[in-house]
Amino acid sequence: MKYQSFLIKYAEIGVKGKNRYMFEDALVKQIRFALKSVDGEFEVTKESGRIYANALSDFDYDDAVEALKRVFGISAICPMVQVDDLGFEELKKQVLQYLDQVYPDKHLTFKVNARRANKHYPKNSEEINRDLGEVILETFPDMQVDVHHPQVMLHVEIRTRINLYSQVIPGPGGMPIGTNGRAMLLLSGGIDSPVAGYMIAKRGVVIEAVYFHAPPYTSDRAKEKVVDLARLVARYAGPMKLHIVNFTDIQLYIYDQCPHEELTIIMRRYMMRIAEMIAEKEKCLALITGESIGQVASQTVQSLAATNEVCTMPVFRPVIGFDKQEIVDISEKIGTFETSIQPFEDCCTIFVAKHPVTKPNINVIRRSEEKLAEKIDEMVKTAVETAEVIRCE
Ligand code: ATP
Ligand code: MG
Repeated sequence: MKYQSFLIKYAEIGVKGKNRYMFEDALVKQIRFALKSVDGEFEVTKESGRIYANALSDFDYDDAVEALKRVFGISAICPMVQVDDLGFEELKKQVLQYLDQVYPDKHLTFKVNARRANKHYPKNSEEINRDLGEVILETFPDMQVDVHHPQVMLHVEIRTRINLYSQVIPGPGGMPIGTNGRAMLLLSGGIDSPVAGYMIAKRGVVIEAVYFHAPPYTSDRAKEKVVDLARLVARYAGPMKLHIVNFTDIQLYIYDQCPHEELTIIMRRYMMRIAEMIAEKEKCLALITGESIGQVASQTVQSLAATNEVCTMPVFRPVIGFDKQEIVDISEKIGTFETSIQPFEDCCTIFVAKHPVTKPNINVIRRSEEKLAEKIDEMVKTAVETAEVIRCE
């Protein structure tokens, strides 16, 4: 079957009144963006509570479906055939032709589900169901009716034109990007933070990312890897600004001034402070990290409390309660895993102590940070001001 259109379904929970327009408009915008990467020309339209993506040229069907599967807010993608209303006899022919092409093997149960939006149509839904059912049974003797659990639910929607569809491809769910504010992701080259960004974007949040880079201790290749990850997340989250902060001087200064077993914690506190400053400039309302309780020394509850203490913005940690394998499963599903496991050093691994504190005492940490008083404010300011911005899409 050569489809020319998709009917896009979205979950309607919480999408009422004024919100509905916002939700639908954001969804249309994201669908357009996603289809830009597909061979072919498309128009995306919104019509009485329905969203359609129509191909205006030949197009790559599989790529189009894959692209739509990455648009948050879509609950189902229905490849659809749209026919002109040329009378009921013609409709019968079209329906038979549709079934014949989509289901070469007819050993299937079916049900016709007609909906009549055009109330002037000469038959009501019951009559359409019955009469189409009859002609299907006559023409394809291997097909049988099952009104409860049909293998083929043939939807026939009578509007100005008539929509025929029976295939339902699950979408990713979630909310369209742009319906829930903006947040700043601390994106490292690891497995967890891309997954965390994906999860928050799935709730409709526009995300930006910040990466702390420590040249020459971390290579350009490590930075490229993070850019690659940002691009992979952007396939779902939409175009994303990636801020690359040069963190070397700050790390060296901390290394010189503070007890080595506290390095990781103090460094992480400065990462959070700087991320929050950039987030504020970018009008983000929250931070996102890939932290998970107990995964490493810097993610004990005590360490999380110590890093969290320096932020006033809410910090979203969507994988906080996940086991590593659960995070890996998502990263494989969204296609970031292979990139995440490329072996390039992370700025945190270079300055790690042999025995980092696992239960930092906030007062002790604060006292250690006082040793940075002379230069740190200026260094933080410079780091924020000199951040490089890369647009990833
Ligand atoms: P990930 O797999 O996301 O790298 P991780 O298990 O390696 O996480 P940590 O290195 O302790 O854990 O980092 C915890 C979180 O801090 C990361 O998920 C990320 O959000 C943030 N983070 C760590 N390093 C960086 C960095 N260089 N730049 C930006 N954010 C970072
Ligand atoms: Mg890491």
